[in-house]
Amino acid sequence: MRDNRAMTLSNAAAPWRPTRFLRGSAALHAAALAGVAIGPEFWPWALGAVAANQAAILAGGLLPRSRLLGPNWTRLPERAAARREVALSLDDGPDPDVTPRVLALLAERGARATFFCIGERAARHPELVRSIAAAGHAVENHSLRHRHDFALLGPRRYVEEIGSAQNTLAALAGSAPCFFRAPAGLRNPFLDLALTRLGLQLVSWTRRGYDTRNADAADVLARLTRGLAPGDILLLHDGHAMRDATGAPVLLEVLPRLLDALAAAQLRPVTLRAALD
Ligand SMILES: [Zn+2]
Repeated sequence: MRDNRAMTLSNAAAPWRPTRFLRGSAALHAAALAGVAIGPEFWPWALGAVAANQAAILAGGLLPRSRLLGPNWTRLPERAAARREVALSLDDGPDPDVTPRVLALLAERGARATFFCIGERAARHPELVRSIAAAGHAVENHSLRHRHDFALLGPRRYVEEIGSAQNTLAALAGSAPCFFRAPAGLRNPFLDLALTRLGLQLVSWTRRGYDTRNADAADVLARLTRGLAPGDILLLHDGHAMRDATGAPVLLEVLPRLLDALAAAQLRPVTLRAALD
């Protein structure tokens, strides 16, 4: 159930329930304090245990696909995989140059995708968000500003940053986002608390093409298709897209070939939301 928050959106106001790892971490901190109170000579052991635990919490936030800090989709649910569905996700848009061309490519193939939009960009290009939704794709939440210090925010700032993007995107797309992806996948334990309050499910990915830094289309494609399997969530970017030597976005070269590869493998690209049915 913890991995399927989006399936229970009616429970959006349900109280936050930290993961077993976080509850264990809290207990360890309490035990370390109690230990030092009882026997002050134990302080090096207590400090070592707390430091090791803090390092594990940090690692949980720096590994985008980790579930230590809260539920996190790295693949589609089993039922979607059984239907041979996969999800194409496009982050950091909308972009006035790239997004319309992505929409045209997807329309040619009858493929559906999930766009993790940045709230401020969406507000600057409202017509693009409406076009994405009108074409049957899903608009999901990728925060308001895509802040570089996103992993350092506290619970109140998380709710502000994600909640205001949620309002903007819901108004433009005509339905509220169900999923959230953290900028660069980085976060801290407070994110799960904020997502619980907002009724959003965290999503990372199965594999990514590194298409914001790699200008080699063949290499980006290989990263996405190596080991390709039903249920995969693939990460690409229509915003911050890397360009090749001629100035063309690498994504636009990769996407048709990726759609061919999916068709050849008899895999059907659907939105994340469709995979819930
Ligand atoms: Zn991003």
